[in-house]
Amino acid sequence: MSLDTDGEFERLNALRRYAILDTPPEGAFDRITALAAEMLDAPVAMVSLVDANRIWYKSVHGPAGLREIARGPTLCGAAIEEDGVYMVEQASADPRTQEHPLVTGPFGLEFYIGVPLKTHEGYVLGTLCCMDTRPRSADLRQRRYLETLAAIVMDEIELRRSAAQISRLSEALAAACSDLERRACFDPLTGVLARAAMLDRTARLLERAVAGTKGAALLVVDVDRFKGINDTYGHGVGDRVLKEVASRMAGSCRGGDLLGRIGGEEFLAVFAEVTEEEAMTIAERLREAVCRTPVPLPGGAPLEVSVSGGLRAVAPSDKPAPLADSMAEADAALYAAKSGGRNRIVLSDGSQMPPPAA
Ligand code: GH3
Ligand code: MG
Ligand code: MG
Repeated sequence: MSLDTDGEFERLNALRRYAILDTPPEGAFDRITALAAEMLDAPVAMVSLVDANRIWYKSVHGPAGLREIARGPTLCGAAIEEDGVYMVEQASADPRTQEHPLVTGPFGLEFYIGVPLKTHEGYVLGTLCCMDTRPRSADLRQRRYLETLAAIVMDEIELRRSAAQISRLSEALAAACSDLERRACFDPLTGVLARAAMLDRTARLLERAVAGTKGAALLVVDVDRFKGINDTYGHGVGDRVLKEVASRMAGSCRGGDLLGRIGGEEFLAVFAEVTEEEAMTIAERLREAVCRTPVPLPGGAPLEVSVSGGLRAVAPSDKPAPLADSMAEADAALYAAKSGGRNRIVLSDGSQMPPPAA
């Protein structure tokens, strides 16, 4: 049976929100129905939830294996319409309940008492009810017990919903935090590490490097004559070039290396587990990757782009890990690469890779 009214529609929506239908039995509810049966001196007590077409039992104290019955307009179906206790003292003689399957069937129900389970928002989800096979009544004290136990059932149901909401919220919060962290860590334009995250990770990598056997190397890279690209082609093309340069350099780094954007058109690459000689080779590979092929431009001729780099190797003997000093020395080497003609890598000791053929 389903009542086609707005109120019933809202009530069923509320019931769905609690996500309790067809969940496994739980000790908390079973203890309450056992106590209800004891207090009402009845063989059967149940937590019923009134679904669109069925009464589904979250907890049954009494007949084993009873999980649900078809919804009718009597017993629990009627009890949810009441504001307080709903009682039938002799069901087989009561025209409201005579035809109910629990009355006519083998169970032979005669006595029914149900208290609505009302949510904070005022929706009645079902009942806490007791049944007996003999005609009888319940005194005022027993009715009060049942009302109190029904309130405890509802507290349990609300608690589960709050716990589920908290768990959903904390999952959403964790996702938002990791998204925030990702945004804070990575440069939105180029996708490589942003300055603060890059310097932080570099410091940690250098600490590991000076504690190890091989060392590491810092390469400060700056795009050559980038202002001219902006001035000639516009900021949009400048951005496109920055993205392309970052992507080409990232493609030349190895798994454990770091690459970050530390200024407008300035990048820092850190090579892990390298000797100075190996670092020179990798740095040269990065430089070469940038200038090897011109950057394609939409609707225009491809653009020649190059970078200059200053390289500072960090040996295990360089304790403590010298980030600030090494950066300054790499910067000085970069300056030398610029004044030496650009599109080249200069080492902090002044030596440089053979300049590319003109
Ligand atoms: P050099 O070869 O000596 O490095 O010359 P340069 O022109 O590359 O150096 P300069 O420092 O004169 O110019 C860098 C320019 O980079 C100036 C600045 O407007 C531009 N720039 C900084 N950040 C961005 C950005 O995010 N996007 C774009 N399109 N341009 C940027
Ligand atoms: Mg530049
Ligand atoms: Mg610069």
